[in-house]
Amino acid sequence: MGINYLDYADVNMDEIDAVVVGSGFAGSVVARELAERGNKRVLVIEKKNHIGGNMYDEIDEAGILVHRYGPHIFHTNDKRAFDYLQRFTDWRDYQHEVLANWYGTFMPVPFNKNSMEIAFGEEEAARLTEKLIETFGDERKVTITELRAQDDPDLEKVADFVYENVFLYYTQKQWGLTPDEVDPSVVARVPVFLSRDNRYFQDAYQGMPLEGYTPLFERMLDHENISVCLNTEAESVFDLQFSSDDEDAPLSAIALKDQSFTGPIIYTGPLDELFLARFGRLPYRTLDFVYETYDQEFWQPCGTVNYTVTEPYTRITEFKYLTGQEAPNTTIMKEFSHPYEDPSTQIPYYAIINDENNAHYDRYLALTKSLDNFYPLGRLAEYRYYNMDVIIGRALALADELVG
Ligand code: FAD
Ligand code: UDP
Repeated sequence: MGINYLDYADVNMDEIDAVVVGSGFAGSVVARELAERGNKRVLVIEKKNHIGGNMYDEIDEAGILVHRYGPHIFHTNDKRAFDYLQRFTDWRDYQHEVLANWYGTFMPVPFNKNSMEIAFGEEEAARLTEKLIETFGDERKVTITELRAQDDPDLEKVADFVYENVFLYYTQKQWGLTPDEVDPSVVARVPVFLSRDNRYFQDAYQGMPLEGYTPLFERMLDHENISVCLNTEAESVFDLQFSSDDEDAPLSAIALKDQSFTGPIIYTGPLDELFLARFGRLPYRTLDFVYETYDQEFWQPCGTVNYTVTEPYTRITEFKYLTGQEAPNTTIMKEFSHPYEDPSTQIPYYAIINDENNAHYDRYLALTKSLDNFYPLGRLAEYRYYNMDVIIGRALALADELVG
């Protein structure tokens, strides 16, 4: 059948039971569930000119399948999230590996027993590894924060090396902050791993959608109860009504087309944007992606190479490793991180989590609490650092709640 795309001008709100803002995983999973399980007529509003949110991929001018909003590798221990996606895609088995480019030498990330040998030489690595295993146990994951808290000189030696050669410069590029200044949960995503396992993730279910992410979203949103309006911003079609003129007065209703909408409204965009940044913009990091195509089969040794000590970009991803595409040429992508300053040209990718920013977010969230049909959901609307699988899990849980 194909997705039912509509112009917002042609939408009849009397025929809509639920409104979903955003067509990433948060919005698309909820839309599908409400449409299918809840038999609700769902309107999806998406400001971009395509569906799929951050997961959007397409064939570039050189014929290579590329991700347009950051490299996306699916990995999870949540069987429900994984099984759910099986309805919309077949999988290509893919186990992601990352190497750090350390002054021209490649070293596995997360830093592991193999990286130890590259960094310290076999003999010294064996001695230090033994010490690490005595302290933490074999095959264990240890965060850099935990490692740096040890006061044994050998463990300090490893901690200093990993801090300075894996985390410091990369984190400064990515966040504009040192690893000590970012929330500990951020660097804890990439622990030191006392193992020879070179994979970036150890989750039970890992892979890439066989034909890419965009076809997965095309199938998910292809349902007779779903209509999708592209190029439509929530701010421009929502009429927000407040209980008073006070800046902190909570929402009393949201109207669309001059009618108060009483069905569920699931909002997956940035919350500050909805309120036209009345308390100031929430801080985010944005990324610039620079693509390069080469007339050779492969350009680098694995899917992603992190530049942890040199170069202004954080990492380079070569898509053919992820997608399994066969071609005589290849496209790579460099990521440059900056502060998010201009919503008209930039995309908010990473919430900068700290107490001050969380409080700033909570002030926006408080505006919505009075409205019992409004549900903020997703990495942007919840101002969190969530992976795809967590978003799918949260979207399914919300659908359970709404469908009953
Ligand atoms: P999004 O995908 O951002 O979707 C939100 C949608 O809402 C967008 O389409 C946006 O255009 C739309 N929207 C926003 N505001 C409005 C508005 N006002 N009106 C209308 N529409 C609006 N996760 C993994 O599991 N594995 C990975 O390898 C991985 N890699 C990542 C790499 C990068 C660079 C980044 C930034 C993230 C990565 N993630 C990864 C995380 C993943 O992108 C998120 O978990 C996922 O995108 C969250 O989905 P979402 O629906 O919440 O948000
Ligand atoms: N990190 C780092 N060096 C690396 C890999 C990660 O310093 O080689 C830090 C950095 O602060 C980064 C965080 O760990 O932002 C989380 O890394 P991850 O690869 O999970 O980031 P994402 O893929 O979400 O951008």
